[in-house]
Amino acid sequence: MSGPRGECDLAVVGGGILGLATARELLARFPDLDLQVLEREGSIATHQTGHNSGVIHQGVYYMPGSLKAELCVAGARELFDYCDARGIPAIRCGKVIVATGDGELPRLEELERRGRANGVPGLRRIDRDELAEIEPHAAGVAALHSPQTGIVDFAQVASAYAADVEAAGGAITTGCEVTGVWPGAGRLRLLHSRGETRAKHALFCAGAWSDRLAVMAGGSPDPRIVPFRGAYLRLRPERRHLVRGLIYPVPDPELPFLGVHLTRHVGGDVLVGPTALLAAARDAYRMLTIAPSDIASTLTWPGTYRMARRFWRTGLGELRHLLPMGTFVAEAARYVPELRSGDVLPGPAGVRAQAVGRDGRLVDDFVFSHSERALHVRNAPSPGATSSLAIARHIADQAERDFGLGRPPAVPSKEQSP
Ligand SMILES: Cc1cc2nc3c(=O)[nH]c(=O)nc-3n(C[C@H](O)[C@H](O)[C@H](O)COP(=O)(O)OP(=O)(O)OC[C@H]3O[C@@H](n4cnc5c(N)ncnc54)[C@H](O)[C@@H]3O)c2cc1C
Repeated sequence: MSGPRGECDLAVVGGGILGLATARELLARFPDLDLQVLEREGSIATHQTGHNSGVIHQGVYYMPGSLKAELCVAGARELFDYCDARGIPAIRCGKVIVATGDGELPRLEELERRGRANGVPGLRRIDRDELAEIEPHAAGVAALHSPQTGIVDFAQVASAYAADVEAAGGAITTGCEVTGVWPGAGRLRLLHSRGETRAKHALFCAGAWSDRLAVMAGGSPDPRIVPFRGAYLRLRPERRHLVRGLIYPVPDPELPFLGVHLTRHVGGDVLVGPTALLAAARDAYRMLTIAPSDIASTLTWPGTYRMARRFWRTGLGELRHLLPMGTFVAEAARYVPELRSGDVLPGPAGVRAQAVGRDGRLVDDFVFSHSERALHVRNAPSPGATSSLAIARHIADQAERDFGLGRPPAVPSKEQSP
């Protein structure tokens, strides 16, 4: 990874999975493009990309016709192919979404309808007995089985994308936080912690900080990122046999989160989680990490209060997860009844960059926007990592159109010629 250059055709701000996937895609289309990735942390994949459930989703949940539905289904297929080609372990361990009572069946039916409309491969409704064959320790009245849902280490995938970027001539600079953006005079000036870069165009893929960079570049303050901390527990090694693959509850359709799930990871670990609690910092991997500017940003956003009015009951429910591990485990024990509080150890945490509209809406779908000479990823929650290759194509198509990449430079007319 090299130092930043003062000039380039295209700057990609953010070295998470989306910035790297998009840089890779653009260099594959335009091998002569002078591109550099600017990442604020000392290494790539430090934030959401390195702190997630590691699930290659298949598109069961998402509203048919949404960007999430389209890009997840395509992205999952492409990601498995990519991992095969690059020798990255990606395991199709399968997933069950378990209804624990008759009251959840209408929601399970709706998920099945969405999954079919989205073309999720092999999706099937199963009964109690089939559930017991697939996940012997799970219990419920019915379930959906998605046999192709898989697991991968997304940080490893991001490293492979980074290697592709560098092999194609792109530069990646870490420890380079962009702190100011000024469009004008045929270039974008990007002020950063290692000086200044003047780029013809820029892509901002800054995850939890995407709203701030968009505003710096002259974009809309709506939506704002409100960080939600997601903490996990880890099953003790001798209890990992309780989970073969991935066990999920039927989610609350009002929320963009999938509920506390049990996920096997490629290294063998089984995690239980995540929670969804408002965080006091956009990098609150530790409970006590506090960033006054992040708190101020959350508290001065009108959408925060509208969201709180709508979801106060859910919020109170989530607060229980601050109590000793028992309550958290009890939630997962609804669908894996043998689970006991003594079966778990503390686990890692992630922070979701959740976009919240001024009207209090938790923005569900992927959102992309533009400002002068720039494109922005404004909301890329789960399944953003699964969809990375498809999102990269989507953004690259837009960049080709908006930035005129690959088009020969305009020839000055005779009148303009000296
Ligand atoms: C708890 C949790 C569980 C999840 N589970 C899954 C899952 O199972 N499957 C799935 O598909 N998705 C999952 N996701 C979602 C997935 O992780 C994200 O969609 C994906 O990582 C988004 O990638 P990104 O590159 O946009 O963001 P990030 O990985 O957050 O990267 C953004 C980068 O921008 C950099 N940056 C920010 N500001 C600046 C600046 N000013 N200058 C320079 N660089 C800057 C940051 O340092 C960071 O490296 C989960 C997310 C969370 C939090």
